[in-house]
Amino acid sequence: MSNQLNKKILFLGPAGSGKGTQSTRLAKKYNLAHISTGDLIRSEIKSGSDLGNKVKSIVEAGQLVSDDIVNEIVKNNVSNLSGFILDGYPRTLDQAKFFDSFAKFDSVLDLEVPNELLFDRLSGRRMCSKTNKPDCSGVFHLSLNPPKVEGKCDLCGSDLYQRKDDTKDAIEKRLAGYQNETGKPLNDFYGVMVTKIDGNQDADKVFAEIESKLLAQV
Ligand code: AMP
Repeated sequence: MSNQLNKKILFLGPAGSGKGTQSTRLAKKYNLAHISTGDLIRSEIKSGSDLGNKVKSIVEAGQLVSDDIVNEIVKNNVSNLSGFILDGYPRTLDQAKFFDSFAKFDSVLDLEVPNELLFDRLSGRRMCSKTNKPDCSGVFHLSLNPPKVEGKCDLCGSDLYQRKDDTKDAIEKRLAGYQNETGKPLNDFYGVMVTKIDGNQDADKVFAEIESKLLAQV
């Protein structure tokens, strides 16, 4: 299929805004690479690599990994790609400046969801234990999107688990830091490039809004 979308797309939005779900869907439909720094970091942790062991406790506490580490991971993963969707990076002004030194986004989307809804979405979230694409991208919610069989992934049948940073204390930390460290500075940095998306609607409607706004930019 010919790709009608701008090729380097950034998804901004707090944890629980749906950027993982929406960017995965968009990447599939338009044949773009989906780079989620959260997924990459979790797979380092799962593999038990030196890097994974170094960042494990930081990630599980809901804090940000240092800019140097994430910058390097992203540069290694996007350097050879002409089109991609970045989900979860840049997350600080310094990361945005670093990225800008070697690549430029064509579109920046900002998924907006009221804070009180984010807490419910995150605390009920359950992930497939085979998570980390391309193995499986199953993500469920105890009440909003329950799996057909309790505790099992609809897509591959593996056990579901709750991310350690989806617990109450870690969620509070992640949401509190988002506006100061990411939301405000990056909206200021990307300025008129930012396209706002209403993330407080049915997932299909969010996707339709994303598509129509991106296609209008081509
Ligand atoms: P996410 O899946 O995007 O919510 O990311 C999970 C965790 O990975 C975050 O809470 C951070 O600990 C870490 N992480 C992911 N992306 C970044 C980033 N761009 N900068 C710093 N830490 C990150």
